[in-house]
Amino acid sequence: MSSKSVTGICESCGQERQLIKAHIYPEWAYRALYPDGRVNNDAPLLLVSGSESRTRRSRIGIYDDQILCQSCDELIGRLYDGPAKRYLLETPLQVFKEMPEGSVYVLPGADPQVLKNFFLSLVWRASISQREEYGHVDSANPHQNMLKRIVVNNLATAQDSFGVFITRFRSKTIKDASLKYSQVPYPTELNESLYWILNLPNGYKAFASPLNNSNLGDLLPFALKQGSPVFVLEWEDFETSNEVEMLTKHLKRMRDQKRLG
Ligand SMILES: [Zn+2]
Repeated sequence: MSSKSVTGICESCGQERQLIKAHIYPEWAYRALYPDGRVNNDAPLLLVSGSESRTRRSRIGIYDDQILCQSCDELIGRLYDGPAKRYLLETPLQVFKEMPEGSVYVLPGADPQVLKNFFLSLVWRASISQREEYGHVDSANPHQNMLKRIVVNNLATAQDSFGVFITRFRSKTIKDASLKYSQVPYPTELNESLYWILNLPNGYKAFASPLNNSNLGDLLPFALKQGSPVFVLEWEDFETSNEVEMLTKHLKRMRDQKRLG
């Protein structure tokens, strides 16, 4: 691997700096996909792409060497990536309430503002990345500058501003797969409003609105907010999810092309 670094304008501080290999999703999100949570050089991760007809191998996932300088990348790592890893990978959920849709859990001890801004930072990092894997994450969002200010300064926002709520897959038959799954952000529509879906290991699936006035509807009480518990909605079965449908479709297409080729 080449060790040369690029000089350019850092997207965070705006200064001309040496830019480093910055992960969009933190490195731990890839590491956690390995069977025992440790990088295995002999059996690297399999990357499946909707736009490519082949799979690729990758040790530690996707990074971009043209977006952030070292000190800004480290700051984001300290502010968000470190705590988010503790919350999402190392903190057991506690049952909060059973509902007809499924269970509502809380993440004890998690800082809602840090976690909210972690998810927003993933949207922001994806939007500034020139990597083709993130090309679909719209950097022309009218609230892009505000999104950046929130992330860079760890600002508090109202529950319905850049709203984020967290869900987690249930799974009976392919539980291991549901826990070892991640995906680049993909858009969805909820209450006629755009949300980015952020799939992270351990079955987590967050919905993040890139808008100042998010329309959360009935989900508003569960959105992340300073001073409120961090709720996790376990309402969706992995087996029947969009994620499995997309993955199955891509794998089938690749298998068909392999057969034809
Ligand atoms: Zn910087």
